[in-house]
Amino acid sequence: MTAGEAPAVASPRDAPGGTPGDAAGPFEELFEDAPCGYLTTDDDGRVTRVNATFLAWSGHRREDLLGSAFSRLLPVGDRILWSTHSAPQLGTTGGVSEVVAEVVAADRTRRPALITATRVPARDGAVAEVRIIVFSAPERRAHERELVAALQRVEDSENRRAAAEADAHRRALEDPLTGLPNRAGLSAHLESALAGPAASVCVLVLDLDHFTVVNESLGTAAGDELLVTVAGRLSAAVREGATVARLSADEFVVVDRCEDVERARSLAGRLLEVLTVPVVIQGLEIVASASIGAAVTVPEDRSADRVLHDAGVAMHRAKARGRNRVEVHDAQRGDAVVDRLRLLGELRRGIAAGELRLHYQPRVRLHDERTTGVEALVRWQHPVRGLLPPSEFIDLAEESGLVRELGAQVLDTAVQQAARWARDPQHATVEVAVNLSTRQLADPGLVDAVTAALTRHGLDPHLLVLEVTETALMTDPEAAEAALVALKGLGIGIAVDDFGTGYASLTYLQRFPVDELKIDRSFVSGLGVNDGDAAIVRTCVQLAHAVGIRAVAEGVETREQLDALVEMGCDFVQGYFFSRPLEPDALQEWARSR
Ligand code: C2E
Ligand code: CA
Ligand code: CA
Repeated sequence: MTAGEAPAVASPRDAPGGTPGDAAGPFEELFEDAPCGYLTTDDDGRVTRVNATFLAWSGHRREDLLGSAFSRLLPVGDRILWSTHSAPQLGTTGGVSEVVAEVVAADRTRRPALITATRVPARDGAVAEVRIIVFSAPERRAHERELVAALQRVEDSENRRAAAEADAHRRALEDPLTGLPNRAGLSAHLESALAGPAASVCVLVLDLDHFTVVNESLGTAAGDELLVTVAGRLSAAVREGATVARLSADEFVVVDRCEDVERARSLAGRLLEVLTVPVVIQGLEIVASASIGAAVTVPEDRSADRVLHDAGVAMHRAKARGRNRVEVHDAQRGDAVVDRLRLLGELRRGIAAGELRLHYQPRVRLHDERTTGVEALVRWQHPVRGLLPPSEFIDLAEESGLVRELGAQVLDTAVQQAARWARDPQHATVEVAVNLSTRQLADPGLVDAVTAALTRHGLDPHLLVLEVTETALMTDPEAAEAALVALKGLGIGIAVDDFGTGYASLTYLQRFPVDELKIDRSFVSGLGVNDGDAAIVRTCVQLAHAVGIRAVAEGVETREQLDALVEMGCDFVQGYFFSRPLEPDALQEWARSR
């Protein structure tokens, strides 16, 4: 067979754009029934006409070919050959090209063919087209066969490389055991869920309860089996479009669109439920359960880290509250953090602005009921919230380190006040006790700061007592001992505050140069009510006396408690029974009235 001219006349049956009423003339019939395949394409290579011979030979249907690219009839290697070999030669000027290629028939078999193409440029309002004639050919020419084979090999290896890359990419994002997305895969899913238009996204962090027990008693194979089952059940329980991922050994995460916390809660409830169906592993029925923490994104912060963190915190709460339950992240708790930050800023400003106040609570010597000392207790005169007790801000000051400035101010004010009282002939001379925080005790500048305050206000060191808690002593015993020895050397008294609530052992107490034990209010309030508390208070008093120091009871509120303390031989008492902490003037008033 040889290449011939394609007929210039189109058959109305072929051309979608052909003129419908045209009668099929002899040339159209010739085109249709020629002994070779005829096709025409537009300039982009899309088939515009095809004859019956080609359809019969290839088995393709006319409607499938019209409008689709001619090159798609060729295998990949030939497609490249076609585009590199024929297209440039066709150019824009109307050349002829010839290629031996295979045509993929409708039944996927390949038919060798000689294909010629002629480009007819646009003229007289007609559009440019390419006329293609396909002759059935028994064999490819040898050099073309080699070329096609080489091109096919290149193409195959490209495909394999791309497939391997896609596979590696998929594996990097996938947990090999369950096939679920792993941590990296989850991040990708979560980021795209958060970037999407959905108003809110919920994240559930699910941790299997007692998974290690299964793993250790039945072996890791059993553990794996359980994990795979759980993975399957979770995936089946969520709706289309939700993501189930496995984060670590027995920790799963579910991400879904979700408008509010209640939906997250009901989804979590459903997940707990699907786990209740027993799993049979090695002939044993295991009922899995999980602790689930849920969080829903808030409009102000749609970050993946934030919502995952919130759900994780809620999950730990679920575990702590007895497992097999759901806890939902509470946005209010998040607000508490913001509130604390705000309060910290205000406290910093308040300290600098001199808003701290000291109230003084008298301490009474039991054997003569005389007021021999006071304890300075700090308050914060907040511009909006009024007078705040230390419970509202002292922990915050301690955590943030602000307690240094706070402590320095308290010390200075208390020493100044004590010196004023000491100079006042109307006022009985009293010791002033000042509370030191853990950080202050650990501060290497403490001794210098105390010395400076005493000198500045001219106070006799014997009129100052510093109260330190057991906890502060035990935090860094060596440093505490050194600081206390130095302070003691100045003539200052040392009290151990909240005695009985910490873990200080007797040997430790003996090691520190301590002058008094302040028995914690929690034991004192049990006097007359709880025999155990009475025994503790009695032991503390005896202990103090055994090592030669004073016993002070704090928080005495009733006559009954006072009587019990007198009977036990306690030396000093302090508490509402005598007076609440008072401002200096009020304290003077109180002393006068006694
Ligand atoms: P604390 O040193 O144990 O102080 C005793 C607390 O018990 C004081 O509370 C006092 O008002 C209260 N209190 C005294 N007698 C009674 C009573 O009969 N019944 C009851 N229910 N309570 C009584 P406050 O003033 O609220 O101080 C609380 C804590 O704050 C203090 O406990 C102390 O640990 C800390 N604090 C107070 N001022 C300072 C300070 O200047 N520096 C440091 N670091 N901590 C301070
Ligand atoms: Ca105290
Ligand atoms: Ca105390």
